[in-house]
Amino acid sequence: MYQAPLPHEYADLSMEEADIRIEAARKALGSRLVILGHHYQRDEIIKHSDFRGDSYKLAKDATKRPEAEFIVFCGVHFMAESADILTPDNQIVILPNLAAGCSMADMANAFQVKNCWRDLEKVLGTDMSVVPVTYINSAANLKAFVGEHGGTVCTSTNAPTAVRWALEQGEKVLFFPDQHLGRNTGVKLGYDAETQMCVWDPFKPMGGNTPEQLKAAKFILWKGHCSVHQRFTLELVEKARSENPGVNILVHPECPLDVVEASDFNGSTEYIIQTIEKAPAGSIWAVGTEINLVNRLAQEHPDKTIFCLDPQICPCSTMYRIHPSFLCWVLEGLVKGEVVNQVIVPTKIKDFARLSLQRMLTVCA
Ligand code: SF4
Repeated sequence: MYQAPLPHEYADLSMEEADIRIEAARKALGSRLVILGHHYQRDEIIKHSDFRGDSYKLAKDATKRPEAEFIVFCGVHFMAESADILTPDNQIVILPNLAAGCSMADMANAFQVKNCWRDLEKVLGTDMSVVPVTYINSAANLKAFVGEHGGTVCTSTNAPTAVRWALEQGEKVLFFPDQHLGRNTGVKLGYDAETQMCVWDPFKPMGGNTPEQLKAAKFILWKGHCSVHQRFTLELVEKARSENPGVNILVHPECPLDVVEASDFNGSTEYIIQTIEKAPAGSIWAVGTEINLVNRLAQEHPDKTIFCLDPQICPCSTMYRIHPSFLCWVLEGLVKGEVVNQVIVPTKIKDFARLSLQRMLTVCA
């Protein structure tokens, strides 16, 4: 999304000044404000957050403060949309920098998914038994599509439960936008990645598949990925093992299948945090996830050796767009009575999107 340039006053702000002004604005707004900070945010943002979590936990945390007029979501666009869907209309959700999107979420749009659905109907018949499942990392209109077509949202924590449920409702699952989470989940449930899954490339006719492949597939996986987690490779796992005897490899299921299979543990961001918290002192961990989180875990657990599986890895570039200057700008706007960067999901989309999110809550309760 387009983000107007920051006013000069904020663009030139030093970190120290931004810090002081953010805290002053928080104090002035008091209980009217809640700030949510995703685990992948830099420390300079996390320290100002009332709640820290992954996308799903934060969307739920937002509902814990009904007295707050303003929910400032330090994360990316689809997360702010989820908060707007799940909270009452009188609460205003703000994304400090509208350019903070998610490259994975952007790999599937409503136009492409609707085209895919029509193509599948051509091959499988209009009474096809396909259940759409979208990862929470997707735009609100895709969550609405799923809600309208009898499917569900999932998170990296509950994907196996959500997909198992979907396969009880229909014969096949159309999983988007992350092919890796879809494939890893299918394999976890006992399906074969080679013979029971195919990949849907939205830029190719029929997604790049023959009708026979589509008929045979149990899983139709959208060709999307996370630019951060796809960087982890089998070579990096082998290197970490050879250079660090006794190391535990812990990765996120947005990583490719061969990396997940070669790891010792895999799971969502919250699972990664809990696994490290429970680990014994002196243990060694190579973690395959976003660098801000890995560095924070290393700082918070000095009794353990924790490092990123990829020493060259860069942070999630879109999360990084939430700079303290942007946070300061939106908060001082609120103090003056000006709302900037509100994220509003249109009502029609909201209703169906809420349906798919509520289905997830029911199915995965
Ligand atoms: S880490 Fe990956 S999935 Fe998460 S916001 Fe960044 S690009 Fe999107």
